[in-house]
Parts: sequence; C-alpha cells; structure tokens
Amino acid sequence: MDTVETSTGSVPASALGFTLMHEHVFSLNAEMRLQYPWDEEAMVARAVETLTDLRDLGVSTIVDLTVFGLGRDVPRIRRISRESGLQIVVATGIYTMRDMPTYFRNRHLADPGFLADFFVREIEDGIADTQIRPAILKCVTDRFGLTEDVEAILRATARAHRRTGVPVSTHSDSGTRQGLVQQRVFDEEGVDLTRVVIGHVGDSTDLDYIEELLAAGSTVGMDRFGDDQVTPAAARMDVVAELCRRGYASQIVLGHDTNVESDHTSTRMRARIPALRNWRYSYIPSTVVPGLRARGVSEADLHAMTVHNPRRILSRGLAY
Ligand SMILES: [Zn+2]
Repeated sequence: MDTVETSTGSVPASALGFTLMHEHVFSLNAEMRLQYPWDEEAMVARAVETLTDLRDLGVSTIVDLTVFGLGRDVPRIRRISRESGLQIVVATGIYTMRDMPTYFRNRHLADPGFLADFFVREIEDGIADTQIRPAILKCVTDRFGLTEDVEAILRATARAHRRTGVPVSTHSDSGTRQGLVQQRVFDEEGVDLTRVVIGHVGDSTDLDYIEELLAAGSTVGMDRFGDDQVTPAAARMDVVAELCRRGYASQIVLGHDTNVESDHTSTRMRARIPALRNWRYSYIPSTVVPGLRARGVSEADLHAMTVHNPRRILSRGLAY
C-alpha cells in the first residue's frame, strides 16, 4: 500500500482525500519573529480555526510548501494539524529568487554535494529531531531566471528527488515562462518530468505555454486562486475548464498559495487591496469548484484535479 508522510506521521495515500497542492500555513521572516515575537497562542488558534473551517468544507489535506527562506517551523505545523484535524504535508528545499541564504551558500561552495545531501537527510531521517518527514521537494525560479544560486538549488533538488523518489513542486514565474527553464534543468539531471509539478502556471492564460509544459509530461499547478492581482479568478477558471476540455485534467492540481498569516503580505496589508479579497483558504471549495462545474468541467475531472492527481504525485516513487 502506498503511504504518504504528513506532519503527523504516515497515512495511506488513499486517505489524502481532497488535497490543495500549494499552500502555506504561515510565511514568515524567522529573524523578525525571533526579535519581534508574535502572540504564538493567538496565531496558532487562528490557524486552527481557519483550517478546521477548511476541513468542514470537505478539504482533507493541504501541502504546505513553506521551506527555508519562508520561516518553516514543522513542530508548529504538527500541532496545528492535530488540533484542526486537517492533514498537512510538509516540504524541504530552499526558497530564493536569486541568492542562497549564506548558511547554505558557504556550505555549498565548500561541498557541492551539501544541498542534495541535506534534503535527502531530511526526507530519510526527518527534520531535526521531530521525526517529521517531508513528502515533497520545493524550489523556485522567478523572473531573474537561473542565477548561479538558483541553478545550484534546482540541480540539488533534482538529485535529491532521484535519490529518494520524493516528488518536486516548484514556484515558477509564468510571465517569463520559467516553467520551461525548470523542465530543461530537470531534464538535464535525468528527472522523469511526470514526477514534477510546475507551480504558479495558473497565473498564465497563455495556452501555448501551458500545453508545452504539459506535453513534456509535468503536472501544472493552477495554484493561486483568489490572487486576482496577477490574474482574476474568472480567467483562471476559464483556462482550467479549457484544459479539461482538451483532455489534460490528469495533469492539473489546484491551490491558493495563500496563508493564515504572512510577514511578506500581511493580512492587514491584504485587507486594503480589493483584488486580494478572495485570497483565502475557503475560496476553492466554496467558489472555484462550483465555478468550474458551471463551465462544464465534469465530476470525473474535478475528482482528478483535487483527489486522484495529488494522490498519484504524493505517492512516493522509487529512487532512480
Ligand atoms: Zn507558495
């Protein structure tokens, strides 16, 4: 039986249920939180309430792609998962658009195998002494493209993927078609592109670009629903419905890329931006799923995007 690691231990892949594939519980600046602590109990309580509401809407699992650079704290995630009853999958990797954090950079320069070894150790032995194991690898390519550091992280991610069989999920800037750049690097590293989710493709309405990514075998993340600043939800739904009509439902996953609280785009900042009004956890179950249905997306395709594909991707493959 396929099992999947979550923050509260391994579960049968069949127990994942309705899964949002790209979210964050908290996106934080760890140093700010050390020097300017927040009210931990209040923030955990807010997360538990938000995620309990999400579970009540029929979502069973979220993939929290919060890695180094975004303030990952897996013991806190485990507590929130236990108290909310929502399963949370955690990730390993480094979030940066240009330079590696110096901690990693100096070790990488001293030992080119350091990054992949580090990711593999977290996957095999757990994160620190928590025994929590990441079930997915995350990396980033934004509009600055393949800087020296970003390329090193992508290649280390690819190697850790091949050594462990754990899938890869990315942040990619769609405006500069970085998904294709990521696929090229992964291909050079011998990665089976069907084991890769190219993230933030839903920001794009360029069907030629999206079909090129799909033709190479990857799954695409239509994963910023509710962020209407970049692309309004109606346009995002139109694209998903059209891709389903063209037969690609087996290569699409959904998400919001939202969070309960973020130091980068705080809820207070967001409240002032009308285009971010819907950027919250309940948006996909309450609005996007009915919106896709209204656009003619079948129940089978909805099930594929929300249940079957996440299960397929998160079921750990063999090392190769
Ligand atoms: Zn994200």
